[in-house]
Amino acid sequence: MAKKDQICAFCGRNASQVQVMISGPDVNICDRCVQASRQIIIHNMKQHSHQEIKNFPIPAEIKERLDQYVIGQDLAKKKISVVVYNHYKRINSRLIDSDVELEKSNILLIGPTGTGKTLIAESLARFLQVPFAIADATTLTEAGYVGEDVENVLVRLLQAADYDLAAAEMGIIYIDELDKIARKEMNMSITRDVSGEGVQQALLKLLEGSLASVPPEGGRKHPEQKLININTKNILFICGGAFEGIRDIIGSRIGKNRIGFGDKAESAKSMNAFELLLRIEPDDLLQFGLIPELIGRLPIVCPLGELDEAALMKILSQPRNALVKQYQRLMEMEGVALHFEREALKAIVKEVAKKRTGARALRGVMERVMCDIMFDIPSRKDVAEVIITKGVVTGRRKPRILTVEKKKRA
Ligand code: ADP
Repeated sequence: MAKKDQICAFCGRNASQVQVMISGPDVNICDRCVQASRQIIIHNMKQHSHQEIKNFPIPAEIKERLDQYVIGQDLAKKKISVVVYNHYKRINSRLIDSDVELEKSNILLIGPTGTGKTLIAESLARFLQVPFAIADATTLTEAGYVGEDVENVLVRLLQAADYDLAAAEMGIIYIDELDKIARKEMNMSITRDVSGEGVQQALLKLLEGSLASVPPEGGRKHPEQKLININTKNILFICGGAFEGIRDIIGSRIGKNRIGFGDKAESAKSMNAFELLLRIEPDDLLQFGLIPELIGRLPIVCPLGELDEAALMKILSQPRNALVKQYQRLMEMEGVALHFEREALKAIVKEVAKKRTGARALRGVMERVMCDIMFDIPSRKDVAEVIITKGVVTGRRKPRILTVEKKKRA
């Protein structure tokens, strides 16, 4: 409790004149002065964002950071590292007088579900020095329809930038599931509503650079509301999607082009899914149902490959926040060592690979395997170590448990 004779060292008010007095060893500060200090700090940080970004990572460093979280997908990680690096350079270039204006290159990540598209974007967000926001294209609608206005994506970016407009205008936005807003009539396998094209048009406006006015708190705009103008010219957009069916489009195009080129021409049939994706061209995206203008604004297309069992195995245990490490940490907090036998991990991977949803199913299978243990361990004080064997994964055995006593004897 504040004593009456305590005086704020900044404004001179005593404890009875303020709501809260915070006391240090020889000095006091009141709540008003803390508030004022906060404003000064925010103001200074905003000024900072108008300055040059110093010591930003070079492409090799960006990729190295991505490698800590994302297994495989080297081509996509490489391309993205270059684009992000150039994004930093573009931010700094506006401070230098030059006739050459650096244009941004938005990116499209294409690959099967659960192969790391969102993970790449999320991992970037962890270490980038620019604001970052993620949105799902399927929840977006044109203004006036039920759903989220496309421009709300900008609100999220603004919030990520702590309402520092200048910083938000240089930020990065990831838009997931872009394939789900493809024009329906072009592609039989897409079952999206007819407004897909309208959402594409709305997104296009953002991608090509426009002045958008958004309500600072998000939601629908209404007449009396104060709006903030955001210029999207320098915001980098990364879009992602599985684009199911696009391989058939690429394959049939390659097949047609082959005619008359003799036996040496590559056959689409002999290529695997990733090799086909490597040959993607803007025309294929058009066929799929994206509008040409949007394709034009996504000049860098990065294919992602299917994850094989070896990759899934690595994903389980290698990345910084690998599932095995997460469960070991949870058990460590109970004072219990958790060990997975290699055969157990292999069995998990086998089960996941069958589901054909990439690495997405790893968590679900792990949850199932670990459920009983996570339930039982907190009520037992005698457990020193838990060993997960293949039998536990296949459901035939209980985990091996070493008690504190047994461990001592061993
Ligand atoms: P999508 O490609 O559908 O966007 P995500 O990136 O959301 O897939 O992946 C789903 C989950 O699977 C992630 O949270 C991550 O744990 C795991 N995962 C997917 N791909 C990889 C990868 N290449 N490396 C490490 N983990 C991955």
